[in-house]
Amino acid sequence: MSNQRFKAITSSHTRTEIVVEDSGRRSEYFGMNVFNEERMLQYLTKDAYDRVKAAVVSGVKIDRKVADQVAEGMKTWAISMGATHYTHWFQPLTGTTAEKHDAFFDFSPEGRVMEKFGGGQLVQQESDASSFPNGGIRNTFEARGYTAWDPTSPAFLYGTTLCIPTVFVAYTGEALDNKAPLLRALNAMDEAATAVAKFFDKNVTKVYATLGWEQEYFLIDKSLAFSRPDISLAGRTLVGQSAAKGQQLDDHYFGVIPNRVLNFMKDLEKECTKLGIPVKTRHNEVAPNQFELAPIFEETNLAVDHNLLLMDVMEKIADKHFFKVLFHEKPFRGINGSGKHNNWSLSTDTGVNLLSPGSTPMKNLQFLTFFVNTIKAVDNYEELLRSSIASAGNDHRLGANEAPPAILSIFIGEQLNEVLNELEGVTKGKLSPEEKTELKLNVVGKIPEILLDNTDRNRTSPFAFTGNKFEMRGVGSKSNCAKPMMVLNTIVAKQLMAFKKEVDQLVDKKGLKKDEAIFNVLREYIKTSKRIRFEGDGYSEIWENEAKSRGLSNNKNTPKALQVLTSKESLALFKSMNVMSEIEVRVRQEVELEEYILHIQIEGRVFNELAYSYIIPAAVEYQNKLIKNVVGLKEIYGAAHKKMSESQLDIVERISEHIRAIKIKTDAMVDERKKANNISDISKKAFAYCDNVRPYFDEIRYHCDKLEQLVGDEYWPLTKYRELLFIK
Ligand code: ADP
Ligand code: MG
Repeated sequence: MSNQRFKAITSSHTRTEIVVEDSGRRSEYFGMNVFNEERMLQYLTKDAYDRVKAAVVSGVKIDRKVADQVAEGMKTWAISMGATHYTHWFQPLTGTTAEKHDAFFDFSPEGRVMEKFGGGQLVQQESDASSFPNGGIRNTFEARGYTAWDPTSPAFLYGTTLCIPTVFVAYTGEALDNKAPLLRALNAMDEAATAVAKFFDKNVTKVYATLGWEQEYFLIDKSLAFSRPDISLAGRTLVGQSAAKGQQLDDHYFGVIPNRVLNFMKDLEKECTKLGIPVKTRHNEVAPNQFELAPIFEETNLAVDHNLLLMDVMEKIADKHFFKVLFHEKPFRGINGSGKHNNWSLSTDTGVNLLSPGSTPMKNLQFLTFFVNTIKAVDNYEELLRSSIASAGNDHRLGANEAPPAILSIFIGEQLNEVLNELEGVTKGKLSPEEKTELKLNVVGKIPEILLDNTDRNRTSPFAFTGNKFEMRGVGSKSNCAKPMMVLNTIVAKQLMAFKKEVDQLVDKKGLKKDEAIFNVLREYIKTSKRIRFEGDGYSEIWENEAKSRGLSNNKNTPKALQVLTSKESLALFKSMNVMSEIEVRVRQEVELEEYILHIQIEGRVFNELAYSYIIPAAVEYQNKLIKNVVGLKEIYGAAHKKMSESQLDIVERISEHIRAIKIKTDAMVDERKKANNISDISKKAFAYCDNVRPYFDEIRYHCDKLEQLVGDEYWPLTKYRELLFIK
């Protein structure tokens, strides 16, 4: 066996378990490392506390004096907890999070040593924007940008560093991160949804979008993971013959979690709890070594920050337990990939979930209003929503025969379909008293308070209503939820604004009663958004054809999916909702395309290395062994050796064929890569990588995997699927 593989396997087998004790009641230390309400009350003056609260709830600006007080409080708390540094924590357009640490330690003007951290440092920091991806439109941006405190997400202590969540903006004002546009979208949503919620309850003054993500991931033994260049560099296996046992038996799903993994999970949950991340469920997923972690849902901005923080914490804790976490959407062929379902809803400051049916016809009309408007919004902007989850990794799911499909459609279940069908028949204009009663009692009034049981049945749907929320299932396991959440909240906010306007007009100009007007507008929306509703099998070919005839988009790869971002409609949408300017959208499209290209480029390079430095040499070595055998047989048996050598020679020839194919295809792939690299238009370049480089990957892999089957196990240099995939 090759040295590298042998060492890795031995080391994985001799690991001693790190046992983690259960740590008592989590409520006792939940959020102990967060500068939360409790801490603020303790460390801030009443006035400073009130002002921070006002900033969180209604976006009131915090002046410098108050910022100084908050900084002082934070510093005192953080240092009492052992902090030595602070950092502005932000979300650049690629990667997950970034930070630049500064020590509290400083000199006073008189030259004395002191611990310094004031309002200035809290509120704003300079950051060299040029080293972060900001698109090719560089000269329109100044090279420098700054990070600015986001008081809606509390500061937290991570290790010995005080982390302050921030937005990242260019000096010219453009957002250089994922958080700023998300905050703007959430703001737009608050305004639009509050106005509509007031139709039903005048006391509502704020609406929060809520997000509950479900993070899927793979855990691989660290030394096994690092024994493979593809996992180390590309985050996934580029070659590898399926293990004889995969997920056919379905015995991993909800099965017993292996001890080593359980210890990792306990450790992780402890750390998350301290950081105020409300993790709740843990279980095995369908594939071997695949797991999921889900929190209790939170306000969207905070939920996004918590997911990003979680991914970081996971990597660190995994490392301590000698694991590597794979967040890639498709680390192994032949078994399920990983996603990050985004459960989304809207909550009022009066404590009502706007997507939850209620106990009275009025509450149900409110539910239907938000429900139908969401459907309408997704129908209007399905292609844009699809673009928000595009990435090279996610192409393996959305673009291939894997859950969920690239076509966006909405599943709502039989009961709600019936309700919508009935509403479609509502009379235009004024309603007779009988019809109104009938509607309220027998249609709207009949929506059961709890829909959970009959709605969550269709696992093939990319956007499913699950009783009291929508579940967006196409989000990639690695991606930042800020992207889909920014788009989803923008399009629904836009839709709610249009709805409000239409209802007001019917009331003001046509003299309709408010509820009549609402029924009238909803009826039209139900009619015009029908094509997005689909209850059947989302993976079937029938649906693909049907969706095409309905005019729904089916963008199977990232370069194609990203095109719509800069369409006239998309640009107008983002601009009108004050979420992104044209240049901000263009920069994001460029950065995403650049990231796609880099991703495929790295995979191409790794393929080259695998082929030339690993697989071909191993195949040749084994081939030599066979040839030596044949030569030996000939020496001993003379002419009689022919029959005895037949099989060996057959294998020798087959090995040669595969080597030849690998070499030809790898060289051709490298040529295509060179051609693609000479293209200056970024979109064309991305398409070249997608259409001309990437297709070789499958072809090269085919021959590599055939060789894995032919070549003797002890000659094979790469750790095999069966060794990687079953944690003991
Ligand atoms: P499943 O695996 O069937 O999708 P889970 O229980 O794993 O279900 O996940 C449900 C997710 O939905 C959880 O993350 C939960 O926090 C979230 N969720 C529940 N209610 C809401 C809501 N109102 N808004 C957003 N997310 C929600
Ligand atoms: Mg789910």
